[in-house]
Amino acid sequence: MSWTPSRFVDAVRAEGDRHVAGNMTTRLRVLDDGAWLSVDDTRRVSVSELWRLDAPGFCECDIADLVVENFLNVGVDGRTVTARVYGQCIVCGTKSTVEWVPVGRILNGEFAAVDRDGVLSVRPNAPDEPAAGEPETTSG
Ligand SMILES: [Zn+2]
Repeated sequence: MSWTPSRFVDAVRAEGDRHVAGNMTTRLRVLDDGAWLSVDDTRRVSVSELWRLDAPGFCECDIADLVVENFLNVGVDGRTVTARVYGQCIVCGTKSTVEWVPVGRILNGEFAAVDRDGVLSVRPNAPDEPAAGEPETTSG
């Protein structure tokens, strides 16, 4: 599975707030002081998972083995549910924040977890906010 870069996502985002495709609103929250990601008031993803991350810049490893310690934020990028997480790479010991790890998808209004046994490629742009340095251009 490969993720499409940001241009298409930006176009979609400009039209539709945070509604996931199909006019259904999906409520995404961080609960219990960052211990859980909740989708529509159901706890779906918990800390203490071990994720293999393709996260350039997080640490010196090609693939970081990240133990998730805290969820900081959650958003939706197109149909992909992404989270900012804090954790530690158990290979090199780096502790830091990872920006926007894909943790699931919204399909027909339902949350579908991605296979977190595989390598997760972090997404370069934040789902809820305009990318830094890019002015909002809403015309017409
Ligand atoms: Zn590392």
